[in-house]
Amino acid sequence: MVIRESFPLLPPYVPLLMYAILIPITIVFLYGIYRVISRFELMEALRSLDLSSLSRGVKRVISQRRVIERTKGFPHLFLFLGTLLLFLGTVTVFLETDILRHFGVFILKDVTYFTFEFIMDLSGLTLILGIILLFPTREREGKLLLLGLLYIGLTGFLIEAIRIHNMPNEASVYSFIGNLLSSYTGSLTEIYQVLWWSHALVAFLMIAYLPYSNLLHSLTAIVTSSLERDEPEFPKEPFLLQEIEDLESVKIGFEDPKELPWYEKYRLSACVKCGRCTDSCPSNNIGRPLSPKDVVIGLRASILGAEYELGDDAVWSCVACGACVSSCPNYVSPFSFLMERRRKLVLDGKIDKKMGELINSLRRYKNSLSVPQRGRLSWLSSDEDPDYYIWVGCQYSFDPVGKKIVSKLVDLLRSAGLRIANLGELETCCGEPVRRLGEEGMFQEFALSNSEIFKELGVKKLLVLCPHGLAVFKKEYPRIIKDWNVEVISHVELLSDLVNKGKLKVEKFDELTFHDPCNLARFNGMIEEPRSILRMAGGFKEMRRRGKETFCCGAGGANYWYQTGESLMAKERVKEAREVAKNLVVACPFCYAMLNDAMKGMGIEDMRVLEISELISESSRDKS
Ligand code: SF4
Ligand code: SF4
Repeated sequence: MVIRESFPLLPPYVPLLMYAILIPITIVFLYGIYRVISRFELMEALRSLDLSSLSRGVKRVISQRRVIERTKGFPHLFLFLGTLLLFLGTVTVFLETDILRHFGVFILKDVTYFTFEFIMDLSGLTLILGIILLFPTREREGKLLLLGLLYIGLTGFLIEAIRIHNMPNEASVYSFIGNLLSSYTGSLTEIYQVLWWSHALVAFLMIAYLPYSNLLHSLTAIVTSSLERDEPEFPKEPFLLQEIEDLESVKIGFEDPKELPWYEKYRLSACVKCGRCTDSCPSNNIGRPLSPKDVVIGLRASILGAEYELGDDAVWSCVACGACVSSCPNYVSPFSFLMERRRKLVLDGKIDKKMGELINSLRRYKNSLSVPQRGRLSWLSSDEDPDYYIWVGCQYSFDPVGKKIVSKLVDLLRSAGLRIANLGELETCCGEPVRRLGEEGMFQEFALSNSEIFKELGVKKLLVLCPHGLAVFKKEYPRIIKDWNVEVISHVELLSDLVNKGKLKVEKFDELTFHDPCNLARFNGMIEEPRSILRMAGGFKEMRRRGKETFCCGAGGANYWYQTGESLMAKERVKEAREVAKNLVVACPFCYAMLNDAMKGMGIEDMRVLEISELISESSRDKS
């Protein structure tokens, strides 16, 4: 039987000394873990885990899907797999050498031992490759940690090579790297001990340092990856208006990051400071004072005792586009912290004139445009016994161009045999702008009154034109309204279905591109539906940033109402669209307005913004 030698070429006192050194290392490590668990309230998160969420987390971590998606490469996957397998290998050796052998049990023998040696060498090689590829992309701390891992990897191979040179056996050939090196190292028994000890000590130091460093994510990312959804979600409501008796006693938002609720706080522990959130943040891209990475790192440092102030400018710069959330490899949600902070700023009355006007408009008129509700949808006819009630949204309800778009859409749907009714003056705001602004109470008032109206009218299927409305009706009302029982569908989804079933025709239309609204693509995962329509039109070309990587038009997060001046985001988007096509198709009233305004501001006359229903309507009209 060929077995793995334990502690070869080392004096007999080595195992004992090694375990003695491991005692303080373990204490430092465990204290670090305790500190992280208590400061970031990880126990609450751990209690929320169940088998299905945990298996989702494990799949996400092992596949490294988000990391690979964003970096378009595999360096981190190499590093991760190499480290994981070497760690598992070390644990196996420890179990066998120090426990099982005392009971006469040998795991690493003959073929198992040979396979083990082969896998360990392959893992070492994968680790070193990952380190080399990742090294140029890391900052100081990251580089230092990578150097530590590289030292462990290289000395591991050297130790193996010297052992093989001095004590070759049948397994040597399977340790293919060590075996190769052994012909160059010679016996070198005098430096073997130095190499062995330095290898072990660097590994021990890294274990002790792990909970205090960026390596912490290797433990905490599994928790966020298990508990968080793929699509961004608006932060949980601090209270339920339907149930609450004493609003005064509820903690709303935060002043001090330590006041964050556990389900926000625990996420901070998984940040690896990679900066992908900031790279994808449209506000940061156009020069606004917001870096989601800095927000996360600052809040985390503050919870650990450092000074940090989250500036109001950063908080109000967010367009709630969710790009930071869907780009984070560890499922951290930077925008949640900004939204939580807004809740507190609104509670304390720290809002500017325009924000105040929006809140007042919604309080007084029940719509975001400060116009009387009377005759809101009088221009739109309503069918008896409808298949769908249409939710037009404030923007298109009052805007003359919007009214034409909605009329065209309803005509299309009727031509496909559907009956469409509307809510008339009973349609108000869905509440999305005030929720994104941080006025949680008012949002919930809208949600409650709208759901009552739906009940009174017997609305069972709601067709929503605005992705902002879609996000709240589909994802957020069900969290607030106990007996919510309304099927919510986007007009894009319905149109795509009708087009694909041949009930609506799309004929050739040249020079098309599509701007994915953040609330449709990221928050509702609707990416293929609009494309299935545009592809039928033929002349469709994609923009550089598309689908979940779309670039916000600048209106989200209630920015449409309170940001002053021209929207650089919309202009940036128009420039990008101009590179590929002249007809920019949209599926959101706010994108429609922002991109149109940007084109006017840029003096562009040879381009056009088209709502997706206009595209279908015009292409079928051209045909006839
Ligand atoms: S939600 Fe959008 S604007 Fe806000 S921080 Fe994230 S990426 Fe930036
Ligand atoms: S929040 Fe996520 S994307 Fe942003 S720096 Fe941290 S790990 Fe990277």
